[in-house]
Amino acid sequence: MTAKTSVIGFPRIGHGRELKYSSENFFAGKISSAELESTAAGIRSYGWKKQSQAGINFIPSNDFSFYDNMLDTAVMLGAVPTRYSSLELSALDTYFAMARGYQGEKGDVKALAMKKWFNTNYHYLVPELDDDTQIVCKAQESKPVAEYMESKALGYSTVPALIGPYTFLYLAKYLGKKCREDFASAIGNAYIEIIQELSKNGAEWISLAEPALVFDTNESDSKLLNNLYRKILNFIHQTTKSHILLQTYFGDIRDSYNSIKELGFDGIGLDFIEGKKTLELISKGFPEKTLLFAGIVCGKNIWRTDYKKAEDLLQRIQKYVNPEQIVIGTSCSLLHVPYTTANETKLGKDILTHFAFAEEKLEELESIASNAKNKEIFATERVAADNSVKEAIQNLSAADFERKPAFAIREQIQKEEFNLPLFPTTTIGSFPQTKDVRENRAAFKKGKISKEAYEKFNQQKIEECIHLQEELGLDVLVHGEFERNDMVEYFGDHLSGFVFTENAWVQSYGTRCVKPPVIWGDISRREPITIKWSKFAQSCTKKPIKGMLTGPVTILNWSFPREDISLKEQVLQIGLAIRAEVLDLERNGIRIIQIDEAALREKLPLRKSAWHIEYLDWAIPAFRLVHSGVKPTTQIHTHMCYSEFTDIIPDIDNMDADVITFEASRSDLKILSALKKANFKTEVGPGVYDIHSPRVPSTEEITQALKKMLTKIPKEKLWVNPDCGLKTRGEAETKASLSNLVSAAKILRKEF
Ligand code: GLN
Ligand code: ZN
Repeated sequence: MTAKTSVIGFPRIGHGRELKYSSENFFAGKISSAELESTAAGIRSYGWKKQSQAGINFIPSNDFSFYDNMLDTAVMLGAVPTRYSSLELSALDTYFAMARGYQGEKGDVKALAMKKWFNTNYHYLVPELDDDTQIVCKAQESKPVAEYMESKALGYSTVPALIGPYTFLYLAKYLGKKCREDFASAIGNAYIEIIQELSKNGAEWISLAEPALVFDTNESDSKLLNNLYRKILNFIHQTTKSHILLQTYFGDIRDSYNSIKELGFDGIGLDFIEGKKTLELISKGFPEKTLLFAGIVCGKNIWRTDYKKAEDLLQRIQKYVNPEQIVIGTSCSLLHVPYTTANETKLGKDILTHFAFAEEKLEELESIASNAKNKEIFATERVAADNSVKEAIQNLSAADFERKPAFAIREQIQKEEFNLPLFPTTTIGSFPQTKDVRENRAAFKKGKISKEAYEKFNQQKIEECIHLQEELGLDVLVHGEFERNDMVEYFGDHLSGFVFTENAWVQSYGTRCVKPPVIWGDISRREPITIKWSKFAQSCTKKPIKGMLTGPVTILNWSFPREDISLKEQVLQIGLAIRAEVLDLERNGIRIIQIDEAALREKLPLRKSAWHIEYLDWAIPAFRLVHSGVKPTTQIHTHMCYSEFTDIIPDIDNMDADVITFEASRSDLKILSALKKANFKTEVGPGVYDIHSPRVPSTEEITQALKKMLTKIPKEKLWVNPDCGLKTRGEAETKASLSNLVSAAKILRKEF
């Protein structure tokens, strides 16, 4: 029997990132909106064609977006804050003003806030609902209807895919007194109107995505869910012939499965890859007349599906659900993987046969549906295992995760060792990556200049950077990271076990894409990575130079991980490699070492009950493993990008670093109060200004920020620094800002 197949969403940035380039040209005023629209139409029809050629039965429409689907949904519902609508721009320009902010003749407004989309590296824009927000939907002109009609005109009968009302209300921000319950009725009506319009135009199935159901849900959540859907399904089933698919992904829906079963959906989409309990849920029953859209091909990772395993899973599903009721699909939208391995020209076939990007996953769905076999791919061992790495991990003992002596003793030893002034000043690592820096690196990569020439240039840059920092009067200096393109790729390049793609771009937000490295085999340090640069930098100055490394958790989180061994095993492998580098730096006279964990907070599981068991219980030890071997006099710093870690403060303290710097410049003192309350032991440098903007903060402003911090943090523990690396900033503003930062620290030293 051949099963039917479905896809939740397809990549949309364009095969060669056309949407990115087209949008950037449009923003720069180089092309018209019509040209941008035509690029977009090309991308949509490409996706439909590929899916239809692959024989997919349920092909989505409305999964395209110029920027983000949550933003699309806000616009569809008329939830456009007045600060944007009052600019009186065209519809498209208003949309982009919400996405990116607007600065021009008509006004000056910031963008909507951006947040990480569940446990992915994609970011969505946070819709704002204020007390006077009027939900109005012009169903006929809405995006889902337009894109459905467009697909129909091209001869594809698609499934309009919408973000569902529950998830929309769950993720929106409420600015006034009204809460989500106050908007539920109007929003429910809007969805009804749009579904009716889609139905009138011929849509047989409409999919509503409700990923928010994989979070922990409480009673008021389920009440909202039930109220919304009872009404929507009632109306739709009475007034149309269309079928409604409730699509979930990124986990299981253990808290709401029972209600979902009873609500009368025509299709229910469940995730069997990340949903640990999904199988158990359906074992307790599945409605007889409903289709099960079974997500059994991973939509997030890039590995080939083992058909044998997929078949086994399918058989287990069939124990509880009739085969005729089952549609097989991806576990989530394919937005999170690159387009196709066909774009890779440099990786060998032996590697590429193990990869399945979006287009290859379409073929996989069809093959699984028709019972094809692919065991030959998995017949031979994929990676030559590195037994010495495995052994090293097996031989780790509790002592390897424990730095000695305890923090309080080290703190005293280091105060004497470094003799730094009160409120020591430092930066997070990178200095402006000016054009010459990037050109030098590119020329070296392309073989246009010699290694000597490349290194000489960088050494000059380092020298200038050190002199600048000395002139400014900073206390702990950095070398500036001129040799680095990306904080993960740079390290991956020097580690065995990683492979890199040429074109495997994945959308991170809007027009920004990332190209994550792939963890291919066992990881080890092939060679010293940063020693040369740090050593050179230290030779230029008497002040301490901070060695600069990326931590194991961040390297893991920003790569495509292996699936044949656990994440824990992988993070420990990376941990051992970075540990070797730490000890090497120390041996070479570097006395302060920063280990960045920018992405630590990011992969926290969606359910609180899993935070420790599934993540923190290995992530924090992995960090400790990296630095536990250093001398008491060596000072370990770490840096994290988001200060949204109020809820894991004890775990951060448990990393047992000597100093942590983090992003806190948006004058948000909440985190500081929480640190105080938790009796946080680690010394802290909450960023005193925002490096994401070219604005130069005044001395006065920084002094005030520091004074506020001092109400929560003991003066002996406070460091003074920007909130992140300076690589995206210009030279002039960097100098001015840092100069004010040092002045502010000096003013405070006098006062205290
Ligand atoms: N050390 C890195 C830098 O300064 C940290 C980057 C980051 O936190 N994202 O660029
Ligand atoms: Zn940062």
